[in-house]
Amino acid sequence: MDFRNVQLPREIHTGPGILSEIGDVCNKLLSQKNVTILEGPTTRKIAGNQVIEILEDQGYDISEVIVETATQESVETVVESSKNTSAILGVGGGKVIDVAKMASTINEIPLISIPTTAAHDGMVSPRASIKSSTGSISHESNAPFALIADTQIIAQAPYRFTAAGFSDIISNLTAVEDWKLAYKLTNEPFSDSAAALSLMTARLLMDEVENVRPGHVESAGIVVKGLISSGMAISIAGNSRPASGSEHKFSHALDVIAPKPALHGEQCGVGTIMMMYLQGGNWREVQSILKKVGAPINAKELGIKEEYIIEALTHAHNIRKERYTILGDRGLTREAAENIALKTHVIE
Ligand SMILES: [Zn+2]
Repeated sequence: MDFRNVQLPREIHTGPGILSEIGDVCNKLLSQKNVTILEGPTTRKIAGNQVIEILEDQGYDISEVIVETATQESVETVVESSKNTSAILGVGGGKVIDVAKMASTINEIPLISIPTTAAHDGMVSPRASIKSSTGSISHESNAPFALIADTQIIAQAPYRFTAAGFSDIISNLTAVEDWKLAYKLTNEPFSDSAAALSLMTARLLMDEVENVRPGHVESAGIVVKGLISSGMAISIAGNSRPASGSEHKFSHALDVIAPKPALHGEQCGVGTIMMMYLQGGNWREVQSILKKVGAPINAKELGIKEEYIIEALTHAHNIRKERYTILGDRGLTREAAENIALKTHVIE
């Protein structure tokens, strides 16, 4: 593999109550005392106010922006309002962090990522998913300059988010298999170290499955750790290959097709069961691990009609077409899609 630019966060702080260190982190990393804080409508209460209070005490000038959607318009708004500030602090779930990533990349200022959920691996990765009229597009961005993941705050989020983050990491198993296939068939660049890190992360998490459950405070920490190393695998590869293959295509297809999609990680988890079946891997193991962790394993639990599952399966290969996977160039026929979904009990 050629040497390239690998971006990783300079500082990672995780643990219960770690948010109280935000002042020290900013003082150490930033040259000026003016920052833009990006929040969602609810994450302001959960963590944003605490960040503002601490930074105001330390004499920071703060401009606040509330973000509700990860769209191009949101990115433009934030680019405009953060123009004369020295950093962006993204306080929230995936959408807030994605918008913060794009805006900080465009303005060439550092991003401090402060996730309030552990629902997917976006908190550290150098990719941002921004909605357009034709679905979400994954953009290259700078990696966050620093990550502050307060597990006490993350543990307060609904357990569903943590289980979804767990499922997003499990999808590394099929993603790496797809990547290997693309390397063999199309000579796509492959990184052994990124693939190994990605698989190890998924395996370690499977070993910890008993410790990830509702009401268990350490669960958030376990999943956050996994999301950080998954994000690092993406950074090392320079693209999302180690953590995104056919199962992610299926999830992105559902986002476009289903009127009410489930969480990204939840859809990827169900996608992993089916793609693992296609790849000839141990899909029953994946199914039982996801069941144990309390993540959805079928259409009913996703809250998505079976017909949308089938449609998404037949359309999945068209998402990011240049990314070769087990779905091939032609994708699945309707009959094959039904067969796979039935065999893996995703539909009845
Ligand atoms: Zn994902």
